[in-house]
Amino acid sequence: MTITDKKALEEILAALEGYEKIFIVGCGDCATVCETGGEYEVEEMKKALEAAGKTVVGTAIPESACEVLVTKKELRQHKEAVEQAEAFLVLSCGAGTQAVTAIVEKTVIPGLDTLFLGDTLRKGQFYEWCSACAECVLADYAGICPVTRCPKGQLHGPCGGSQEGKCEVDPEQDCVWALIYERARKTGQWDAIAQRMATPRHHKRSTRPRKRVFEPRRAGLSAARDVE
Ligand code: SF4
Ligand code: SF4
Repeated sequence: MTITDKKALEEILAALEGYEKIFIVGCGDCATVCETGGEYEVEEMKKALEAAGKTVVGTAIPESACEVLVTKKELRQHKEAVEQAEAFLVLSCGAGTQAVTAIVEKTVIPGLDTLFLGDTLRKGQFYEWCSACAECVLADYAGICPVTRCPKGQLHGPCGGSQEGKCEVDPEQDCVWALIYERARKTGQWDAIAQRMATPRHHKRSTRPRKRVFEPRRAGLSAARDVE
């Protein structure tokens, strides 16, 4: 899940300066779960913009804003409002916002900050456990990621600052190396892990921008998304 946070209204209004007719796009997927771009938040933003003197010509909440064809189809259903709009405010992650950029030839403004790829522990509790490094080494660390969960990215053991199992950078967090060690001891992996952890990473898949393009095998399922 892509975790997002709302930008301050002042920042949004500053970005919208000079534009009067605004179309708001939300997202029915991650931003709805994060309570940053669902129905409630789109309506709340509409009221805030109107209170600031803007005209909201339309709103739309695609099922998943980062799916370009899905968002395009959704915006087609608001053709007149889309044509009237001078600017689009997108309450979605940066991927969803850029999907709108790819569809409309008008000004597109992000309404959210995109924070991280998150694991959900409970409703409203998101934690960054993976940073999509494109070269997953979880097998070498008992299934717990030091690339992401150690603030210093220590891959060859703890930094030495850990106190009673807590991280020196953020004492409210467990030191990831304490977690890795405990887990590896329980699963009997520690000896193998201690040997493998010195293996260097080559980072060859982490050059940005990354892409993955393939022919879907399940043509029937992909056709459901093929809405162009
Ligand atoms: S090593 Fe960590 S950051 Fe990289 S893919 Fe695996 S979990 Fe994600
Ligand atoms: S205390 Fe542990 S988690 Fe924190 S920076 Fe050092 S090694 Fe990383």
